[in-house]
This record gives sequence, structure tokens and C-alpha cells, in this order.
Amino acid sequence: MALIETTPNRHNRADEALVTALRQLVGAENVLTEPVDVTPYAFDGTAALKQRPGCVVLPREAKHIAACVTTVTAAGVPLVTRGSGTGLSGGSVPLDGCVVLGLNHLDSILEVDTANLTMRVEPGVITMRVDEEAAKHGLFYPPDPGSQKISTIGGNVAENSGGLRGLKYGVTRDYVMGLRVVLADGQEVWLGNQCVKDVAGYNLKDLFIGSEGTLGVVTEVLLKLLPRPTARRTMVAQFSEIGAAAQAVSDIISRKIVPCTVEFLDQTTIRCVEDFANLGLPIGAAALLLLESDGHPTVVEEETEAMRQALADNGATGIEVASDEHEAERLRTARRAAFSALARVSPTTILEDVTVPRSELADMVRFIAACADRHRLRVGVFGHMGDGNLHPTFLTDERDEEEMPRVEAALAEIVDETLRRGGTITGEHGVGLAKKPFLRQQLGDASYELLGRVKRSLDPEGLLNPGKVFD
Ligand SMILES: Cc1cc2nc3c(=O)[nH]c(=O)nc-3n(C[C@H](O)[C@H](O)[C@H](O)COP(=O)(O)OP(=O)(O)OC[C@H]3O[C@@H](n4cnc5c(N)ncnc54)[C@H](O)[C@@H]3O)c2cc1C
Repeated sequence: MALIETTPNRHNRADEALVTALRQLVGAENVLTEPVDVTPYAFDGTAALKQRPGCVVLPREAKHIAACVTTVTAAGVPLVTRGSGTGLSGGSVPLDGCVVLGLNHLDSILEVDTANLTMRVEPGVITMRVDEEAAKHGLFYPPDPGSQKISTIGGNVAENSGGLRGLKYGVTRDYVMGLRVVLADGQEVWLGNQCVKDVAGYNLKDLFIGSEGTLGVVTEVLLKLLPRPTARRTMVAQFSEIGAAAQAVSDIISRKIVPCTVEFLDQTTIRCVEDFANLGLPIGAAALLLLESDGHPTVVEEETEAMRQALADNGATGIEVASDEHEAERLRTARRAAFSALARVSPTTILEDVTVPRSELADMVRFIAACADRHRLRVGVFGHMGDGNLHPTFLTDERDEEEMPRVEAALAEIVDETLRRGGTITGEHGVGLAKKPFLRQQLGDASYELLGRVKRSLDPEGLLNPGKVFD
């Protein structure tokens, strides 16, 4: 039994004539149709959702993207844009017979402007490369999703991705100054500029950020960079009760301390990470917090001390401050490995992305733990706790007909509780297919219908990533 179905194709399918036209455009070797070749494009990071596309087109020149879009949409065939396919909501899962537009080959860094502190990149640039390139100029690109070694900037923009540094530095949207977008009819628009301020017209750039490939194809991104912080301290705190860890986070925020990073791992996650990566984590702890401060060395020292005090006041049973960068990287790895470590212990992993106001964190993590117990389910929880963003991860098996109804019931209860506490069904992974059943419940009828009106005005035939976000 599948929890979420992929979307049926109600439009045309890629046929011989379309494949030939695409081959003429980008070269035969860049258009894939054989099952063995297109299967790697059949799923994203959700893994349980899969559907082979009709064909995959992989342009190697930016100028070909608009022509590819026009060719596909003029044939009435759905187009699913794809970066690295690491999305966690089914956003880049194809429809039967659709065309997947893969943008990984378009991975040039076009310009670093050190006078304006900006960088212009193609959509297929890997997220971590942006920061590595910025670092060569003493600059900094803060958004660092756990997938930064493989995800693309295009995917990050389409999902408005967050990362471990989101608490202090915000999310992808906060660093996008301009976008080049190809619309459903193949028309290209440039939105934004290098100005720090600009209120000319509606903010259309922001409409495309987080639009999950349903409104247009992002073909170029102008990013804002910051001066690189000169110091950084990393620490880990252990707790014997998960609610106490969450309460410590709420308390740090209410003491007006805004560190760069506050990440959370519960005991199930700690044990899975330890089995996976052998980092010497305290497997007896009920929860771990990973905290990081960055900035001027004096500020970092003061902030680290203030956090240590807040952690101790909230019952931390052990606090370890990394002595050097090697040690800090070991601690960060524990958090970055969380999803992969959980994903390998069961046939099906269902990852939630609920986010609540930070004052609600302690009650929310206790609710999730109690909910898992009540339904007799194995759930690991980790997340960007400083942002109120939790990833309850169900370790299950979609073939288990007795367990899956309990998983569905628990998911629905977690969503209800999140919304009751003023939260959101997705803090960073997007709606895609996975969160679609819950979107109307969060937005209410009027806002939900408004989304449909925006979609229809930009993509009247509904050919760009159909069935994602809403039907
Ligand atoms: C181990 C792991 C850790 C992760 N950690 C985080 C995290 O900390 N924070 C976070 O926010 N996410 C995280 N993710 C989720 C995922 O990495 C992000 O959503 C990422 O932005 C997806 O990038 P991608 O290139 O893989 O995009 P894809 O998965 O290929 O696509 C994602 C969506 O974007 C659309 N899209 C892609 N490129 C374009 C484009 N150029 N124009 C228009 N639409 C486009 C697709 O149609 C799809 O809807 C994690 C995933 C994994 C597997």
C-alpha cells in the first residue's frame, strides 16, 4: 500500500516525434528513452514514490532550455524539472510519459562580484560549491541543507531550502537577489537585480522561490553573499529527557541568544547514526543538541558561554565544546548523517517536516514521542530545532498492511497537533506529492484557491510539474 500516489498523466505522452525534436535540439546523446537509462530519474529522496518518465532531456547549454520547454509544452506533454533529485516531498517524481528536464550539466559559476557581494550561477551548480567559491574571496553563502554536497541551487530555489545555519542566517530566499526563469510558453524573464532595495512592481521573484517547478524553470540565479565569519565554536549537549532538550532551545531563544545552529537528535536517531558512522556518540542519551556560534571571536566566546549556561540551567547532563575544527566536523557529521542513518534501517522511511513556533517545541516533541508509542511505531526525530523545524521519521515497511494504517493515523495526528499549535506542515521540504493531502487544511479554502489562480495564470495548460503542491 502506498501512502501517497504519484500523479496520473492527464495530458499527452512523449512520442517519437517529440523525442526526435528534442534530439535535434540538444543532441541525440542528451535525450534518454531506454528504461535502463530513465529509471534513475524515476524517484527523488522520498524513494517510496516512483514513476518512470517517457524521456529525459539533459541540455548542456543554457540557451537550449527555453527551446526544450517550448518544444515539450507545445506538444501538450508535462514537463518535470529536476536538479539532483534529493527532494524529500516527491517534487521531482515524474508522471507516466512526461519529459524530465535535468539541469545538472548546467553547472557554471558565471560571475563573482566582490564589489556588490553577489554571485551569478547556473541552476545545476552544487550547493556546497557556491560556498566554496565564495570562501576563495573571503565571502560566505550561508544556506547549507544537509544535502549540500549533492543538491543543486536550482532545486534549493525551487524548494526554498533551509539548512543547519538557518536560525541565524535564514533560508535560500534570503539570498536570492535575481532569477532568470523560463515560463511555460518558453518566454524568458529576468526578475530582480543587484540592488539591496527594489520595490518596483510586484515581487515576482519571490513568487518563483519555493514554487517547486510548477510555475517556471529557473535557469540562472543571482545570489547574495556575506563577509565570512572569522570565528566559530561548536558544542554538543546531552539530555536525559527529550522535552528538556526542546525546552533548552526555547530558553536559549527567549534569552535573546541567536546562534548560527541549534540541531536536535533523539535517542533513536543517535543510535542509528552511531551504528552508521561510528562517531562515538553517547547512545544512552535521550537527546542531543548540536549548537554552533559564529562571527567575531569575542562575540563567539560570549555566546558560547551564554549557551553553556542556558543548557546547564535546563538540565543538560553533559556539554562538550569542540577543541578544534576536526572535532567540530565530527559533531556536525552526526547531524548531517541523521537522515541517511535512519533511512537504512527499514524498507520504508517516511519523513515529516513539521515546524512549530519555538515556544511550542517541548510539548511538540513530547507529543510526537507519545503518538509513536500509542500507535506502536518506530519513529526517530531530528531537525533544525532552533527554527522549530522537526523531522519525525517513521521507520516502517509499506508492504506491511497491518502497520501502514497506524502510520497514516499517526501522521494525521502529528499534522493536526502541529496546526493546532500554530505550525506548518512543511518548514523546508516543500509540499510536492507527500504533503499535498494536508495543504488545504493548513491554508484554508480561500488561500488554497488563490494558489490555483496563480498557477492557472502562469501555466494555463497545467503542464509544469502537474499534480505537485495541489491538483
Ligand atoms: C540527506 C538529505 C538531507 C537533506 N537536508 C535538507 C535540509 O537540511 N534542508 C532542506 O531544506 N532540504 C533538505 N533536503 C531536501 C533536498 O535536498 C532539498 O529540497 C534540495 O533543495 C533539492 O535539490 P535538488 O537539486 O536535489 O532538487 P530536486 O529534488 O531535483 O527537485 C526538487 C524540486 O525542485 C524543482 N526544481 C529543481 N530544479 C529546478 C529548476 N532549476 N527550476 C525549477 N524547478 C526546479 C523540481 O521540479 C522539484 O519540484 C535533504 C535531502 C536529503 C536527501
